[in-house]
Amino acid sequence: MDGKRGVFCCLAGFANPLAVVTVQRSILHSGAIPMRTQSSVSSDKKSPGTSTLAVHAGEARQKAVDSITDPIVCAATFTFSNTQAIIDFIEQKQPREEYGRYGNPGEKVVERKLAQLEGGAEALLFSSGMAAIVGLLMAKLNAGDEVIFFDECYHRSREFCTKHLSRFGVVTRQVKACDYDAMESAINDNTRLLVSESPTNPHLSVVDLERFAEIGKQYHVETLIDATLATPFNIQPIEYGVDYVLHSATKYLGGHNDLLAGVIIGGEEQMEAVRNLRGIMGAVNSPHNIYLLERGLKTFALRMQQQNANGQAIAEFLEQHPRVEQVYYPGLDSHPYHEIATRTMRGFGGLVTFLVKDADWRTTANVVDAAKIPRIAPSLGGVESLIEQPLVMSYYECTPEERRQFGIPDNMIRYSCGVENIEDLIADLEQALEA
Ligand code: PLP
Repeated sequence: MDGKRGVFCCLAGFANPLAVVTVQRSILHSGAIPMRTQSSVSSDKKSPGTSTLAVHAGEARQKAVDSITDPIVCAATFTFSNTQAIIDFIEQKQPREEYGRYGNPGEKVVERKLAQLEGGAEALLFSSGMAAIVGLLMAKLNAGDEVIFFDECYHRSREFCTKHLSRFGVVTRQVKACDYDAMESAINDNTRLLVSESPTNPHLSVVDLERFAEIGKQYHVETLIDATLATPFNIQPIEYGVDYVLHSATKYLGGHNDLLAGVIIGGEEQMEAVRNLRGIMGAVNSPHNIYLLERGLKTFALRMQQQNANGQAIAEFLEQHPRVEQVYYPGLDSHPYHEIATRTMRGFGGLVTFLVKDADWRTTANVVDAAKIPRIAPSLGGVESLIEQPLVMSYYECTPEERRQFGIPDNMIRYSCGVENIEDLIADLEQALEA
């Protein structure tokens, strides 16, 4: 899939020592490796593949003290040599750092890397996925504006809209996930943003991104996809015309369950208000956190291959198991969005949700407790497999009626595949289901 000829073309400039200064500048300001397009997944041989981008994109070829890794710059502020240097910076004659709340050098490297991985013009990192969502919504919406959500979504995103944005006079409307007619009907003159996850958490419904983006364009409303569960390895929503892509980088992008981060990718002009608000909110990453994220991204594509494979194998194993009532995984023929998933996605991710047959919440909890390899924890996408019962982990305080509304039955388990050997994960799940 990854066009070798193209990779050599794109990286050729790096081999010429005389080109170092020019190359360095072009990497810093426009990105040395051309953006990966959706077509590069299948046919465009000129774009580097995902793994090449994950390792190299956004980075200068020659770095401080000739280090192969980017330095962790522990600086809350950055000094100016004199007053003229301040004026040059303000007048944008000399790009440089100013103050840590507006970002740090490592953050800019990772932002360029993520923009190229996603095929977008600009990426903005935040201190968590939720900070990214809050930042985007606060930057884009004013009192009286309306936002429409597909209703299967991370519960804290929903909570922010319904409980907090409402305090600022923003109206949230929720429609059934993937009901495009309902979404269109909910649009009115005040609608500013259409929001969905794809695949959704924890039901793994897959949005027809082309249709979703088209509705936005038709009604002149911007669109946002939270693609945390897909990652740019599996799909690139911007290629389908979506305006903003959001990730909890805490999950697959960081990939090691050791950091929190969030990112929004979008057009340069569209992102300006978000960048300005981030500088005021201060929801930025520490230099150490950014180093971990950059390091985690180096193995992003390798991890995704393994997690896609593990997810598919676990889903197939569970589907034929007599103690399993239903499996939610877009890679299964039985999944209602299998067709759109196979048409648009390169893989289906490591998250598998399933229902234990004839089980109440206690019997279901016994399966979770009997599993020996996955750790019991919220989150997903890291190298360690995780298991949880959504009723207990995230929806314990909801009423049964609310859980019914959100589609969270008592016998639901969410399994996030890590990169362990699949034979071991399956053997472990088998004994847990039989315990
Ligand atoms: N979006 C999705 C789909 C998530 O699952 C989560 C967290 O679980 C978030 C956003 C929020 O990300 P974070 O935990 O990094 O704030």
